[in-house]
Amino acid sequence: MNVSVCNPLCRTPLSLIVDDSCPVLNLAPYWIEQRQEWRHRHHPGSPPEAGEGDAAKVASLPRAIPVEFAARWGDWCGEQGVRGKFSLIPFPAGVGRIDQGLEGFSQTELKNWLDVARDVIGPNFDLTPEMLTHTHVVNLQTGKLSDEWEQVEWVQPPLEPLTEYIIEAMQILKNAGIACEGVTSPGAFGKRREMDYARAVLDAALAVNANARPFYFLWLKDDEWPDVPLWHVEQERGVAIASIVSCAGDWFGGWTGYDEAGDPDLFITEDLQGGRLPPVLEKELPCVLVGHWPGFYFGGEEVGFDVLKEVKRRLDAFDGDGTRTLWMKNSEIGHYEMARRLSDISNGENQSAAEEIIEINSHFPTPRFTLSLDAKLRRVRVNGRDLRPVQSQRDFRSGTFRVQGRQTFIAFDLAAGRTEIKCEMHAHLTISPLGHDDIN
Ligand SMILES: [Zn+2]
Repeated sequence: MNVSVCNPLCRTPLSLIVDDSCPVLNLAPYWIEQRQEWRHRHHPGSPPEAGEGDAAKVASLPRAIPVEFAARWGDWCGEQGVRGKFSLIPFPAGVGRIDQGLEGFSQTELKNWLDVARDVIGPNFDLTPEMLTHTHVVNLQTGKLSDEWEQVEWVQPPLEPLTEYIIEAMQILKNAGIACEGVTSPGAFGKRREMDYARAVLDAALAVNANARPFYFLWLKDDEWPDVPLWHVEQERGVAIASIVSCAGDWFGGWTGYDEAGDPDLFITEDLQGGRLPPVLEKELPCVLVGHWPGFYFGGEEVGFDVLKEVKRRLDAFDGDGTRTLWMKNSEIGHYEMARRLSDISNGENQSAAEEIIEINSHFPTPRFTLSLDAKLRRVRVNGRDLRPVQSQRDFRSGTFRVQGRQTFIAFDLAAGRTEIKCEMHAHLTISPLGHDDIN
């Protein structure tokens, strides 16, 4: 009997990544101002480079994004079933550590914001650092900002302090009550040294949160098929790190919160045929979207949030009966890929023509582990417990199995260790007394 691992519940993963979010602060004006100041000091008189923002627009940008918006946004995602990753920059723009206080803002405002992040957004989104400041590199000895930039010089970060730097970012979140599942790269942080960067994130995750299966978000690939690369795999110890790759650009509202970057059609057109997402969904590849927090708020106009609502409406229409797609956190996508690729699956001895045992040995647990078996099964037991038969893909969930044609799909929560799956077949083709094939 051939066995293969499918997407979870035979559905294509969807996920929403939100970058540049921090408690209270609107990162964009701080980032643009600090970059202008840096330019003025080092290259006086030179114009800003593309991607450095427009200094003239800074005055019109709000310095903070209200907690009321964060709560409403998080509630909406919860109601809609949208899941993904939400950055919480731990030392945003160097204004203050979120486990201590932000200069110029009240402790109450910070606390309320962190409460919303944990309690409203956190249940559906991985909360990650986006390194320490998302602007200047912090000198860990002095706690002061250096002249280097996290996403400029540290595209190729120095190796020696890298793990410590990531540990510091994770530890601040932990002090604020958040054991992060991974990290987000500010811009191209770490990109030219990805293998070392992945190692440093993994070591930091182990050190701070004893997390052996973290993820990072670094790559956005809107012109090739997305995948989920795994690095530094130690199969016998259950250790690996996943790179979560986005398949689309930020067409919500951009990173500044004033650009006219939003357009739902770039994701998926009204007729559900065009845009970047339909072909990725047709290929059943992980469909990870990225937006920036200042663009969702858009100075109070909520342009990016409106684009998100429209894109969600169209994705719901694309998956009319709710059987083709599955919203997941980034960490859930990472864990699933690890289970898919790093579990040993073997067909045990063939007990009889009517019964077969499949054995799985894995150090990579995941919910909703889904297998396709090329046999028509009448009964399936996982570690002695019966899976419930269902008739339709709509009812297919963990703890059930479904026969379709001559295939059987089974789904269950894969635990670490050994799993035994006992499969009872329908009898094979038999010759009926009337002389023609009869499948019973
Ligand atoms: Zn960012």
